[in-house]
Amino acid sequence: MAAVSPRTHIRTELPGPRARAMLARDADVISPSYPRDYPFVMSHGRGTQVWDVDGNRFLDFAAGIAVCSTGHAHPRVVQAVKDAADRFLHISSDYWHEEMTALGERLARLAPMGEPAMSFFCQSGTEAVEAALKLARHVTGRPRFIGFLGGFHGRTMGSLAFTSSKYTQQQGFFATMPGVTHVPYPNPYRPLFAGADQGEAVLDYIRMLFERNVPASEVAAILVEPIQGEGGYVVPPDGFLAGLRALCDEHGILLIFDEVQSGVGRTGRLFASEHWGVHPDIMTLAKGLGSGLPIGAMVAKRRLMAQWKRGAHGNTYGGNPLACAAANATLELVEGGMAANAAAVGAHFVARLQELARDYGCIGEVRGKGLMIGMELVEADAARTPARELCDRVITRAFHNGLLLLPCGASTLRFMTPLNVTRDEIDEGVALLRLSLDEA
Ligand code: PLP
Repeated sequence: MAAVSPRTHIRTELPGPRARAMLARDADVISPSYPRDYPFVMSHGRGTQVWDVDGNRFLDFAAGIAVCSTGHAHPRVVQAVKDAADRFLHISSDYWHEEMTALGERLARLAPMGEPAMSFFCQSGTEAVEAALKLARHVTGRPRFIGFLGGFHGRTMGSLAFTSSKYTQQQGFFATMPGVTHVPYPNPYRPLFAGADQGEAVLDYIRMLFERNVPASEVAAILVEPIQGEGGYVVPPDGFLAGLRALCDEHGILLIFDEVQSGVGRTGRLFASEHWGVHPDIMTLAKGLGSGLPIGAMVAKRRLMAQWKRGAHGNTYGGNPLACAAANATLELVEGGMAANAAAVGAHFVARLQELARDYGCIGEVRGKGLMIGMELVEADAARTPARELCDRVITRAFHNGLLLLPCGASTLRFMTPLNVTRDEIDEGVALLRLSLDEA
């Protein structure tokens, strides 16, 4: 077994006494809908390390669900937020300010739309998705949409209609918005279509739908994650996104890439779509964009967004100066080296996980791009049945060993460290993971 660095300190039983007291207070006053399976009560964080209220130190390979892109409390981001806060905390989107305009300019320069783009700002990924759906209906005048099984786009009524990943399946999924048809997401590890390129097969399936019961002329947009996140960190086969693009172009359908989880450097490129060079019409961002400050963006080709008339969509907090300041600093850091670090350290991480896969039969597949990496755990049977309970046990053991992890899909451990994680931290995390696999 690889040596576990002494940098990870667990000093108390977990949860420790202070944490237990907090959990007891919290249970009476906070909604029980938050999953909260792993009792970590945060005190503070730096980079990839976090401390709980009892002084225990953990490696954070969950990064606030891929939000803490620049690591915890990156000094440049903290300074940008402090500077903005010293000037003013809020002015509604009825007025202008430098941080918001600068962020719009930055995204217009960086967004891989293949033509000029504009941004609409909000507070979350869900709201960015809602805005994208509304814009798509507005500019096409069409009522229907195509979404993907296993997709996750949020939990408001519109975005929820596209969310079919584990959460809603567990709680009885039903369509919350009419006109949304779900199609399979191409998963090479779990092929639904025998003997075929899964991407081609899904494209054929959509064509078949268009001919039979979903007229393409009524479809406003196809909403897709370029790499499926909550559904299991599934990377589609090469050619799939380009195929979707061609299908959309053929039928006048808009292509929306939800890059809330995959965007802002996470996959080793600024946006995941850049791995395949496919331009969306609309792109949604949130999570890593603000390094922890709540911000979402719906970025659309200018010729589409320009069709929105005054008041067609809006919000009170969109373009909040603190959130925009954090996003500007974040994009500067990600563009300035963190995306490249995610690519390089991510490749090292995958290689280390593949070493583990050779030693543990329960590891079915290691997949991903950059620092969006999934490791699917399976039972020892021919069907490679998802090993759900094992996955939970490994995460619980990892927690007790000082490593924060979260699951996705049916039984996938996902690794979404800060983008500035070091190789040493990865090696330490892999050692803790090995220990946790042994114990689980
Ligand atoms: N879209 C994707 C791809 C996501 O992964 C998520 C959240 O996990 C959302 C949308 C919703 O974002 P938020 O939780 O910020 O509303």
